[in-house]
Parts: sequence; structure tokens; C-alpha cells
Amino acid sequence: MKAEIIAVGTEILLGQVVNTNATFISEELADLGIEVYYHSVVGDNPARLENLLQIADERSDLVVLCGGLGPTTDDLTKDVVAKHVGQNLVEDYAGRKELDAFFTKAKREMTPNNLRQVLIFEDGIALPNETGLAIGIFYQSATTAFLLLPGPPSELRPMFLHHAKPLLEEKFPQTDQLISRVLRFYGIGESKLVSQLADLIEKQTNPTIAPYAKPNEVTLRLTVKAPDKAMGMKLLDETEAAIKKEVGEYFYGYGEENSLEAVVVKLLQEKNCSITAAESLTAGQFQATLANISGASKVFAGGFVTYAKEQKEKLLQIDAALLQEYGVVSEACAKAMAKNARKIIGADYALSFTGVAGPDELEGQAAGTVWIGLASETEVTAHLYHFTRDRAYVRHSAVMAGLDLLRRAVL
Ligand code: ATP
Repeated sequence: MKAEIIAVGTEILLGQVVNTNATFISEELADLGIEVYYHSVVGDNPARLENLLQIADERSDLVVLCGGLGPTTDDLTKDVVAKHVGQNLVEDYAGRKELDAFFTKAKREMTPNNLRQVLIFEDGIALPNETGLAIGIFYQSATTAFLLLPGPPSELRPMFLHHAKPLLEEKFPQTDQLISRVLRFYGIGESKLVSQLADLIEKQTNPTIAPYAKPNEVTLRLTVKAPDKAMGMKLLDETEAAIKKEVGEYFYGYGEENSLEAVVVKLLQEKNCSITAAESLTAGQFQATLANISGASKVFAGGFVTYAKEQKEKLLQIDAALLQEYGVVSEACAKAMAKNARKIIGADYALSFTGVAGPDELEGQAAGTVWIGLASETEVTAHLYHFTRDRAYVRHSAVMAGLDLLRRAVL
């Protein structure tokens, strides 16, 4: 069963609206075991929509359209699809009753164009709209099924979950389900990861392995097709184990949303540990990153931003002579910052960040040179990095490296 999704709306083409409906529908179809082969977006233009429909009708078994079911003349999806499949539009009885009830209750006068929202194909199945007025439509031609859904996600989601999904399940029972798992890695670039996994990736059939690179991170999405969840999970476990055998030391977590900072906050909570930080070049970015995660207050009480040398002396009580002798971009300074921050705040761990964000050199050291200190009850260490690219990237890289050092230490 091959499906495709067509989002209708000029606002999406203009970049004013993100096509989140396609993401949602794709995930839901995968859950039903229906594979989605294409996503398209088309503006509110009948000729272009008809072009796209011809292509979709030819290549897909199920075409899901979203948007353009409203009352105005630019809401053209229903008319264009009806014409394409040769169906007349008639009034849906239940939809009309709902529409009348709505306007009576709201004590508002209905305008004739509202009636467009309850028109249905003569051989179509109406899908009730629990949170709006425009009904959805399911229609099956000799070769292709069409599902028409409203644009607003607040209407589309309940309509899909409560009405379209059960209908699709009944009409197109699938023997296989699609299940995905996302593995997250830090400390290895995409090209290195892919070359270390070259054999596995080359042989991949089921599950498939798809890499995706973000700044300072790589994720691998494994997608399996299986007759049931238990079998799917078993296949995913086997592939995950094979991947971890090669690059397991860089693996830190699962899931699309599970960032390195989220993993670190959760780990600190689990181990009942607290963290503080003393930041120079990152100027609070590490602490702000932690605070983005809900529950951060349980592990983070506060810390220091000591950008200038004087503030390192004043707030962190670092000996002026040490800074004079070694400089601020030094192992000694990073260690002193972490050690003193931990003591002053009374935390279990402290990180420190000192370095050259760039573009200019500092103390004769190149842009991108960063020392990160880590203090715990038992030891104080410092780690040297040479990050590349621009100032923003250097600072972000430093924060990510600090998070990873902390994660490894707490583990
Ligand atoms: P209405 O009755 O509100 O006119 P409609 O079915 O005609 O509903 P559209 O007019 O196409 O839908 O879109 C209404 C709103 O829904 C858009 O302004 C946008 O905020 C949201 N929307 C539309 N399409 C999408 C999409 N693909 N992903 C996310 N949001 C969308």
C-alpha cells in the first residue's frame, strides 16, 4: 500500500505555515503499516492541484489531502478532487444538522458559503469534524482512495485519530507495521559514523538505517517493517546492538526530542547529583541550555558568568598570580574555575569554560581553543579542545562538549 500526502495552501508555499500536518499524518500512517512515498505542497490553484492529482492517482493507492475545505472560494480542494474523480457534490445530512445547530447556538446568521463546508461526494463517506465545521471525506475510486482533511491541525488531528484512522484500518488491513527508533550520538561526525557503519548500511534492508547530521550531533533512524511489535522490536534490537558494537562509545540516548542536555538533566536527577558552572567564553550558555529542560531546578541552583579576568578573581576567588602566570585560556585557569565554583556553590559537580570564541586570537592562542574544567568531590580535570568554524559554533561546541564530559563523569 503506497500513500502520499498533498498539503494544499499558498501559506505553506510562502513559508508562513510549517507543514506539520504531513509529519503527523505520516507518523499515523506508519503506525497503520501504510508506507508514505511522497509529500507535496501546492498553492490554492485548481490547475496545479489537478496536475498533482493526476500524478498522485497514477502512482499511489492512497492520496491524503489536507487544507482547502473551508467556506471561501480559495478553499478549492473538494471541488478539484470531485471533478478529478467524476463525483457530484451533495449536502451531507449529518454535517448540515451540525452546521445548523452551531449557528443556532452561536446566535449567528449562516452565510450561504458555509454550506460549502458540508458538501460531500455523492459516493463518499463523511468524517465528522469535532472541533470545526468543515467535514472530511473518504472516497474510493476503482484504483485509488482519497482522504480529504481540513487544514487546521486542531481539526485535522481529532478527525484523523477518531474517524479516518479506524476507517483506514478497516478498509486496508496491513499485515506489517512500520516501527522507528532514533539513536543519538555525540562526539563523532556524520561521515566518520557512516564510514564505520559502511557494511551495515550497505546491507540494510529491514530495518533501514538513515543518518541525519545536526550541529555537533548525529542521529540514526532505524525503521523496521514487521508483522507485529514484538518482532519489530527484536529486529531493531539486533541492528542497534550491531551499530553499538562499532560506535557505541558515542551513543548517548534515544528519540527525536531527547537532546544531550535532557539526557544529562535526567541522569543528574537519577543519581541525585547537582551541577554548577563557571563560564567565560560561553557567558552563561551552558547554564541557559540546562535551564531549557524542565526539571533543571532539581539539579541546578545557580552558577557564575565570569567573562573578564577581574570577575574570575572577584567572584570565583581565583588567585591573580595564577591568572598572571598561566593566562585565562589555560588548564590551570579551567581547573581553578571549576574547583572554586563547586566549593562556593556546594554542588556535586562543576564545569568551567574558558577559551577563545574568536574571530581574534587571545593570549596568543588561536580562535576555537577551549579548556573545559570538571570538578567533582574526588578530582579536578581539564580538557583541551580545538573547535573550528565561527564564534557561535565554537561556543555551542563548547557547551555540547561540557555536557558530554559531565554525562560520562556522572555515568
Ligand atoms: P478553514 O475552514 O479554517 O479555512 P481549511 O481546511 O480550508 O480550513 P486552510 O484554509 O487550508 O484549511 O488552512 C487553515 C489553517 O490551517 C492555515 O492558515 C494554517 O494555520 C493551518 N494549516 C493548513 N495547512 C496546514 C499544514 N499542512 N500543516 C500545518 N498547519 C496547516
